[in-house]
Amino acid sequence: DVETRNKFDGFWRLSKLAVPLHKDPGKDFLGVSDGLLEAIAKVLEFPVASMLPAEAFSVIRKSFDARKVLKEPKFVYIVDMDVDKLISLEPRTWDFISRLEPKVGLVEHLPQGKVSGDLISIIKDCKRNSGNAVSRDGEPEISSVSKGSVTYKTSTKPRIAVVGSGPSGLFASLVLAEFGANVTLIERGQPVEQRGRDIGALIVRRILQMESNFCFGEGGAGTWSDGKLVTRIGRNSDSVLAVLKTLVHFGGPKGILVNGKPHLGTDRLIPLLQNFRQHLQELGVTIEFGKRVDDLLIEDGHAVGVRVSDSRDSSQSNSQKREYDAVVLAVGHSARDIYEMLLSHNVTLVPKDFAFVRDFSFNVMSYMAEQVGLRIEHPQQVINSIQYSSLASEVRSGRGKIPVADYKLVKYVREEDGNVSTGTSRSCYSFCMCPGGQVVLTSTNPSEICLNGMSFSRRSSKWANAALVVTVSAKDFESLNFHGLLAGVEFQRELERRAAIMGGGNFVVPVQTVTDFLDSKLSVTSMPTSSYRLGVKAAPLHELFPIHITEALQRSISMFDEELPGFISKDGLLHGVETRTSSPIQISRGNDTYESSSLKGLYPIGEGAGYAGGIVSAAVDGMYAGFAVANAFELCHGGI
Ligand code: FAD
Repeated sequence: DVETRNKFDGFWRLSKLAVPLHKDPGKDFLGVSDGLLEAIAKVLEFPVASMLPAEAFSVIRKSFDARKVLKEPKFVYIVDMDVDKLISLEPRTWDFISRLEPKVGLVEHLPQGKVSGDLISIIKDCKRNSGNAVSRDGEPEISSVSKGSVTYKTSTKPRIAVVGSGPSGLFASLVLAEFGANVTLIERGQPVEQRGRDIGALIVRRILQMESNFCFGEGGAGTWSDGKLVTRIGRNSDSVLAVLKTLVHFGGPKGILVNGKPHLGTDRLIPLLQNFRQHLQELGVTIEFGKRVDDLLIEDGHAVGVRVSDSRDSSQSNSQKREYDAVVLAVGHSARDIYEMLLSHNVTLVPKDFAFVRDFSFNVMSYMAEQVGLRIEHPQQVINSIQYSSLASEVRSGRGKIPVADYKLVKYVREEDGNVSTGTSRSCYSFCMCPGGQVVLTSTNPSEICLNGMSFSRRSSKWANAALVVTVSAKDFESLNFHGLLAGVEFQRELERRAAIMGGGNFVVPVQTVTDFLDSKLSVTSMPTSSYRLGVKAAPLHELFPIHITEALQRSISMFDEELPGFISKDGLLHGVETRTSSPIQISRGNDTYESSSLKGLYPIGEGAGYAGGIVSAAVDGMYAGFAVANAFELCHGGI
């Protein structure tokens, strides 16, 4: 009857569907296989799996699970079932559907299905329906865009400067331009084509362009990266999906919507950014590369513009004043000059002292605390063997059935002096793991060395690297005599300088085997090879940090080895130094307005402002900031 039918109509989400490895076509197949139909049939208690029409199901998530406790590794799926389609293609399924019982996290009814699209279509729908932009009530609900009312002020387009073309700046520009603002995107680095040549010159000829490198340039810090799109802000939230769908709109593979651990790789990021740029230009955004914002123009407590100069000219003699109605500051956390400039204008900055955030769950909020550490690299084969045992051979440099193995480690270390607790505790964890990747130089100054990792989409290099970092606080900064609001920045800089000195110059990186680091001795015997292209030199990395940080790293590595036996290995090579995993400070802003709490007209966003920690979270922050600014200028009205 109609009532029963209505109760079951729409979509059902079936989660935790397990397909053993031998029945699955492998990591690159994102459709509905016979093995998956068998798992679905089991949930429906439908007797003949082969009678289920694959077209009625869509894969929402696919992850690989090779935990040692399992008898056999498996792929784990989330699938949406379209009830109408299923019944029309195979009417005999109705009896089974009408007996379905919802079970939290396993079988759930989604009467409306998932409706949100990419950001461009969301805003278009919103404008067409005169609905509001987005509701932001706890977890954002982009699918509710069609509710509410919108008014447009087309006559006076606000002039908005967006400073920085990383994920946060790009997404803020996109939203503002789609809503009709007059956007100028100002980027100190170069477009990806020239930036690629500058990075090439760095890797091959050791020439570091201070304004066009692994941190500065189109796409921001994450362009020459692994392009991991995992995030701690809720993978299934509508805001994250809107960002991922927008990346697909600009040429990202559809698999990122489904893959449990989505990643792009540098080779896919570059064309994606070119498409993004073209779209912004078609919307009328003026994009200026090679231009650096050096200062803010301030009148009566209001940011009314910026001072811009040619970034290849360090003298700032050619600087120009530009007036804007608002300035969106999306500069990332390597723009240390910007923090100093903000401080000179008394803009409120809050140091990210771990003590300040330790009440939060560090899993969710760890990017809130400053962290420092080293980048560890193992042969990928070692990590594959640790994670997959005998299955390791199935990886085949990224071309096999199972994904190249990765890891994620988190521990908590209490600090001791002798055997007495000092009362300080630190989170220690792996971060930004790049399977099949390489260690790269992310310095923006030739007298400093800091590192990160990147990979290509296949993740086929023979190395696996990750940051191993520990949280640090004002106590650590004070131990090196750094005080005040920018002590955390100075602390990072000091460690980067020490690393450059230990390497002996010319961007050579100081290294130590894991075993020697644990024994606090220089690596003198043959060292494993490194993926780092500019050369490595054995150095006492255990002397690089204040002693408590070295001890915390040593203890956490020992604990990591308990979880991943073999992690401590002569083949594991530590590289110094990893300092820029998160912003050392936060630029205070209003919760809903995104406007600086001390300077009207200034909108600090993204990682540099302390509100994101990765590509996706920066993009989401930029997106919401775009809505907030559009709202402030009445380009759209609504409950953001
Ligand atoms: P950014 O991306 O840092 O962008 C800021 C932009 O502002 C830059 O392009 C810069 O040139 C520009 N700028 C700065 N100052 C000025 C100025 N004064 N005037 C004009 N322009 C200015 N995250 C992930 O989620 N996954 C990964 O796999 C990953 N890998 C990474 C690999 C590397 C090598 C690096 C360096 C970072 C990686 N990250 C990764 C981190 C990620 O890139 C950042 O979290 C993210 O890019 C932050 O975005 P953002 O927009 O806040 O700032």
